[in-house]
Amino acid sequence: MDSAVKMKNILGLKCIDCGKEYNDSDVKYVCPSCGGNLDVVYNYPEIKKRFTRSTLTTDENLSIWRYLPILPLESDFSCQLNLFPKLQIGWTPLYRAENLSKKYNFPNLYLKDDGRNPSASFKDRASSVVVVKGQELGVKTFTTASTGNAGCALACMCANLQLPCVIFVPKTAPKAKIAQLLLFGAKVIAVHGTYDDAFDLSLKASDEFGWYCRSTGYNPYTREGKKTAAYEICEQLKWIVPDKVFVSVGDGNIISGIWKGFRDFYNLGFIDKLPQLIAVQSEKSNAIAKGIKSQISNPKPKIKIEPVRATTIADSISVDMPRDGVAAVKAVIESKGFAIEVSDEEILKAIKEIAENEGVFSEPAASTSFAGFKKALKENKIKENETVVCLITGNGLKDVESAMKVAGVPVLIEPNIEEVKKIIKTA
Ligand SMILES: *Cc1c(COP(=O)(O)O)cnc(C)c1O
Ligand SMILES: [Zn+2]
Repeated sequence: MDSAVKMKNILGLKCIDCGKEYNDSDVKYVCPSCGGNLDVVYNYPEIKKRFTRSTLTTDENLSIWRYLPILPLESDFSCQLNLFPKLQIGWTPLYRAENLSKKYNFPNLYLKDDGRNPSASFKDRASSVVVVKGQELGVKTFTTASTGNAGCALACMCANLQLPCVIFVPKTAPKAKIAQLLLFGAKVIAVHGTYDDAFDLSLKASDEFGWYCRSTGYNPYTREGKKTAAYEICEQLKWIVPDKVFVSVGDGNIISGIWKGFRDFYNLGFIDKLPQLIAVQSEKSNAIAKGIKSQISNPKPKIKIEPVRATTIADSISVDMPRDGVAAVKAVIESKGFAIEVSDEEILKAIKEIAENEGVFSEPAASTSFAGFKKALKENKIKENETVVCLITGNGLKDVESAMKVAGVPVLIEPNIEEVKKIIKTA
């Protein structure tokens, strides 16, 4: 398709806070009027002409690029392939969790394993879209603030395309994530401070040096990459929409992306209902959960998020001031969902439970969704005949130190068979 046709797919950008609309070529990051986050508005009738359930069924591209007609990019996959990372992004497995289903007497439970992405987290969906977008804008260098995964994802895409990038992380980020960043060839800047300090610095640096900033809740295109997981769930469940999707929430960009994805498919007429979204947060990083609860008990026209002092072990969702909080609260309220808070202990227990029952290894922020499912089930917030998807957003190898807290220890023996016999008898 030529770019004049493709251009019509996007009508513009709309501020999530104040509702002002802009031409997408006029604004780079946030709302010039109020500083709110921007949402990409699509021309659904136009998109529907070429993009349908049946074109999807016959599409052999099993990655997020099968959704190119509804992504905010102008590049053509067939003749501008050099702009796209040559990595397997998205189309991650959706497993029926049969053993956990038995354990909880809950037949329709699914895990979407996004730890299977190239840099081993969900963030590859966003970073891949942003690097293509940045190249379309003629950018030379990319940057982001990150608790670890967003940076790893950006560095991974930039390594594949041989583009320079500068990543700001709190110095407390897990070692494996720092190693990934360095190995992918990023310029890694660790800051004495929190993710929130790294965030502010990334904005200042991108302004100072003209770098393209991917930071979550600032760049309007990360949500667009993240929404593709919702599309995949619809396709993988053969167009049966789950009743509830459990999402671990930090900045709130994944959950608002998942909502965008389901609404896109609803607006295109591909699905006939929408799921409820359940935001799961650590009780030690619960700014969005508090916002949702307050909005449910006392609805206000203007949503305000109060910052917290985050201390959770789940580093990927440890956030003082959520950068996409308003969109996240709106997503949960519009979907008639709710918020659940879990303890760090429950998060760690969930890592072990998912691993030993299903063979899926998750980092703390990724097992949080399942910890939330367990709690919701216990509190009778789910009916037993419902279909539930838990997003597993990152691989456990990214934070082995946390996993070791619940892994236990191996049996240590002298290397002879008698010792093995003793153990096997007592096992
Ligand atoms: C970033 C991240 C999240 C949370 O996403 P937000 O958009 O910050 O809410 C959850 N899990 C993992 C593994 C992540 O990296
Ligand atoms: Zn605004």
